[in-house]
Amino acid sequence: MSEKLKWIQEEIQNLQNSGLYNRIRTINSPQGAWLVVDGQRALNFCSNNYLGLANHPRLVSAACTAVEKYGVGPAAVRSIAGTTEQHIELEKRLAAFKGVEAAITFQSGFSANLATLPALVGKDDAIFSDELNHASIIDGSRLSGAKIIRYNHNDPRDLQRQLSESRSSFPKALVVTDGVFSMDGDIAPLDEIYAVAQQYDAILMVDDAHGEGVLGRGGRGIVDHFGLHGKVDVEVGTLSKAFGVVGGVVAGNSLVIEWLRQRGRPFLFSSAMTAADTAACLEAVNLLEESTILVDKLWENTRYFKAEMTRLGFDIGRSTTPITPIMLGEAVLAQQFSRSLFEESVFAMALGFPTVPRGKARIRVMISAAHSREDLDQGLTAFQKVGRSMGVIA
Ligand code: PMP
Repeated sequence: MSEKLKWIQEEIQNLQNSGLYNRIRTINSPQGAWLVVDGQRALNFCSNNYLGLANHPRLVSAACTAVEKYGVGPAAVRSIAGTTEQHIELEKRLAAFKGVEAAITFQSGFSANLATLPALVGKDDAIFSDELNHASIIDGSRLSGAKIIRYNHNDPRDLQRQLSESRSSFPKALVVTDGVFSMDGDIAPLDEIYAVAQQYDAILMVDDAHGEGVLGRGGRGIVDHFGLHGKVDVEVGTLSKAFGVVGGVVAGNSLVIEWLRQRGRPFLFSSAMTAADTAACLEAVNLLEESTILVDKLWENTRYFKAEMTRLGFDIGRSTTPITPIMLGEAVLAQQFSRSLFEESVFAMALGFPTVPRGKARIRVMISAAHSREDLDQGLTAFQKVGRSMGVIA
């Protein structure tokens, strides 16, 4: 092995020794309540497939039809020859669904954040960012060159303190928060954050990746959940979780959206969403607008699973959403727990540092509308068995 790369082997060895090495399993089936994982059938507790749309027959059919009509590849970035009538239609439909002036789609939620932050603030400006914000917000913030000022998690008073101390030193300020925090499942107090941002004339941006299709009326997201229509400047979302496909969206003020078409770098320099993805997303919007059955089922499953896990004696953290962390502490324990669950045909991944802080390792269960009551009961039985055998519950 080349000397100059030897450090990588040492780092990987360190990860393995500390139980932090991420052994990535291989899926051999479509997404759904059950998966074939590494060749073994297992109950799926780890996908972001909140509404079970990732293999929904209507989305699959829409994608196939679009491939027949438009082919498989976009062959261009959006700003050159990659914008199809489907993209325009999807953006209009997403804007209407969310009750905003306009929307723009990206290849992923990650690239939506990378596009948005540097387009809105630059090196003379400041970003006030929740300390637990998603990696894509952190990376987008770094790319912008703005000064990053972190405030305590979900603490509008700390945000207020930070803004009062330094707002006047920057021509522009932007406040950014995850809507639902993906590791803990707690919801940002967006109404209070809005009031503070407003007071200090700061642009307000929320990343609603885990709220899209989950929170609000019929899954219209966190802005709808808090009734803040027209007040949040930028709503970033993903089409790869509840929507079941892949892609990102920025919705909000039409001026911001127009600016992103001119200055959003992943829009200008990375190829468009494919025809299949775009058509499947359009069908997801159709489904969400037709009925709230799936969103209602998701919440019914969530309430049931959380109540039962609490009754069994597990610490399920501070989540108020379908994201259900089972707090275990040490990464090695969480990894062993996950392996034992897998032996019981339950696929639920352990999350450790750097995804979550050291000493806060957990199993994260993602509830879906695709789960039946029997699925959830089977999962609960496995958690009880493993929890008892490992001394986590009595
Ligand atoms: N923001 C948040 C809060 C997320 O949890 C994720 C996905 N892990 C993303 C953005 C990125 O979304 P995508 O998978 O569409 O890139």
